[in-house]
Amino acid sequence: MSTTYDIAIIGGGIVGLATAMELTRRGRNSLIVLEAEDHVAAHQTGHNSGVIHSGIYYKPGSLKARNCVSGRQAMYKFCAEHGIDHENCGKVIVATQQSELPALDRLEQRGKENGLEGLRRLKPEEIKEYEPHTAGIAALHVPQTGIVDYIGVSETYARLVQEAGGTIQTNSRVKGFHPDGQEFVLDTPQGEVHCRNLINCAGLYSDRVARMCGVDPGLQIIPFRGEYYDIVPERQHLVNNLIYPVPDPNFPFLGVHFTRMIKGGVEAGPNAVLAFKREGYTWSFSPGDTLQFATYSGFWRMAWKHWRMGFGEIYRSLSKAAFVKALQRLLPELRIEDIHRSGAGVRAQALEPNGQLADDFRIKETAHMVHVLNAPSPAATASISIGISIADMAEKNFQA
Ligand SMILES: Cc1cc2nc3c(=O)[nH]c(=O)nc-3n(C[C@H](O)[C@H](O)[C@H](O)COP(=O)(O)OP(=O)(O)OC[C@H]3O[C@@H](n4cnc5c(N)ncnc54)[C@H](O)[C@@H]3O)c2cc1C
Repeated sequence: MSTTYDIAIIGGGIVGLATAMELTRRGRNSLIVLEAEDHVAAHQTGHNSGVIHSGIYYKPGSLKARNCVSGRQAMYKFCAEHGIDHENCGKVIVATQQSELPALDRLEQRGKENGLEGLRRLKPEEIKEYEPHTAGIAALHVPQTGIVDYIGVSETYARLVQEAGGTIQTNSRVKGFHPDGQEFVLDTPQGEVHCRNLINCAGLYSDRVARMCGVDPGLQIIPFRGEYYDIVPERQHLVNNLIYPVPDPNFPFLGVHFTRMIKGGVEAGPNAVLAFKREGYTWSFSPGDTLQFATYSGFWRMAWKHWRMGFGEIYRSLSKAAFVKALQRLLPELRIEDIHRSGAGVRAQALEPNGQLADDFRIKETAHMVHVLNAPSPAATASISIGISIADMAEKNFQA
């Protein structure tokens, strides 16, 4: 006789695990997390920049702004309680040309509207107090930003789920779905899993999983690879903490920046290159993934609008010299020999049929199901708060 779980969560990334942690904390422990890979945090969560974002970038009132601010506070508290490596080191956002000053003003205003206290506007000489090797014409110091080990966070969420009676099952990619009376049946390589309720937190595959479950996601996931370089140890003194550019307001990405990592070292990146494969960590190609977005009208509308930016990113991906040039705007002393290629992450970015890159988190609720369709950055920072919101939705939808 197979078990029927109350809740199955597809995806053992930080969002699925945070949701599982909150539901089991509420006593919903007939719960299973199904993860495709042989360990949790295998994709976006385990390949990100490790930054605890402040909430400065997001439109006041948006899900991103609300969940980032409350999630950030919860993340610091959680890490302190569970002994997870983290540091509230602050960051600077640096304008290097006059044309960026209005955007820097808007960020400062946004930060204040999102409740950030202690933001400090810096003159060129004041930037040196924080980052002596950075050049800029103005900057903003954001004290709330920090760095953390998100793999450690995810593993702790998973441990708490198991301690509360929930199950984490790896090597279990969900490949099929069908309803059976009051239940759903999920096909995995380890056999069928029966559940009464379902939560889709499948990241790069969230749109496909929604469709597999008979739900129209109304958007498509487009993978954008973010490539990183490491600064060689002898030159890491050039960066104290985190140095970011003023982002282009037309894109949901933050621009290549410098990040001191909690485990040591300094990373530069990530860029944002269209990937031709959902888990395309290098220049690789999946005919199925490419065909899927090439036949999506939203993709061509996006390509038409942003082709210049897209080619710039491809050029920077292929040319180390171009990548270094972008970084030298923030750190003029950086030389080409100071960095070497390291890893990459692939962002799951939802694209609307009209060609707009979805800016906010997107969650779709149907009877007995919740589908998390867009959970890009700062979803790791915000995970505890998003987990609470998804658990609220789940408990409402799962009553029927
Ligand atoms: C390059 C990069 C840098 C980033 N930097 C930051 C940062 O500094 N700070 C921050 O807050 N955020 C950052 N983000 C964003 C953050 O990492 C993501 O928003 C977050 O990790 C999303 O978590 P997730 O659980 O939704 O997705 P994922 O971590 O991708 O997890 C989804 C999981 O679902 C599994 N899965 C997929 N399909 C199936 C299936 N059919 N069956 C079973 N399992 C399945 C996958 O194997 C995966 O483990 C960054 C992202 C990237 C890519």
